Amino acid sequence: MLLSNPQNPPPADDFAARLHNVRERIAQAAATAGRDVHSVTLLAVTKGQAVAGIRAAMAMGLTQFGENYIDEALPKIQALPGSAAQWHFIGRLQANKTRLVAENFCWVHSVDRLRTAERLATQRPARMPALNVCVQVRIADDPAKGGVAPDAVPALLHAIGALPRLQLRGLMCMLPHGTPEAGQHRAFAALHALLEAGRQDGLALDTLSMGMSADMDAAITEGATIVRIGTALFGPRAP
Ligand SMILES: *Cc1c(COP(=O)(O)O)cnc(C)c1O
Repeated sequence: MLLSNPQNPPPADDFAARLHNVRERIAQAAATAGRDVHSVTLLAVTKGQAVAGIRAAMAMGLTQFGENYIDEALPKIQALPGSAAQWHFIGRLQANKTRLVAENFCWVHSVDRLRTAERLATQRPARMPALNVCVQVRIADDPAKGGVAPDAVPALLHAIGALPRLQLRGLMCMLPHGTPEAGQHRAFAALHALLEAGRQDGLALDTLSMGMSADMDAAITEGATIVRIGTALFGPRAP
């Protein structure tokens, strides 16, 4: 098994301590911004984590899980049937994998072109509720990161908003590793401004998916409603 290391599962109390720490950071940042702590959802990013780790997280009350790679995610989703877990796809979306995403996830955070959204809309099974979608924005102009350019966001939002079977929720971004704190605030505030512009345009947007282990504090003070946290919850990932 590539993913799990049954000899060496993370001790549950380590996880509990990290979770406590993450919840403290969320509470602190929300308080700093005068926000209700319940307006921030903790999405546990489980790439590189085995099913046992996800079960431990569920036992501690977490229900929202994020995965980057469909081939890694599917066996985990299938190992937890009927659970309260809700799965968010947060990775690069290849055209030949959209069907599996449409059939197995609740959310997709990483849509950055209309063609992908159209495929998801067509492939979302009728028996499932609408697929929640965020548009990923290349807010920091880092060519290594996916996402649509900020000036293309309004047109893409309107086009996706018109598709059936998708519930357009908002925007997502990812900052380059090592972005200094002032730059984090600038980038997250810029994403927030794009969301507000979409609302002014009449779109019912309620989600800012921004903030990871290194920059969640700035993201929350700038309005994040979902923070995507891996390392700070589960410890460093195996390379
Ligand atoms: C891996 C990943 C995360 C979590 O990163 P950490 O730094 O481990 O918290 C969040 N969002 C995306 C898109 C990721 O790929």
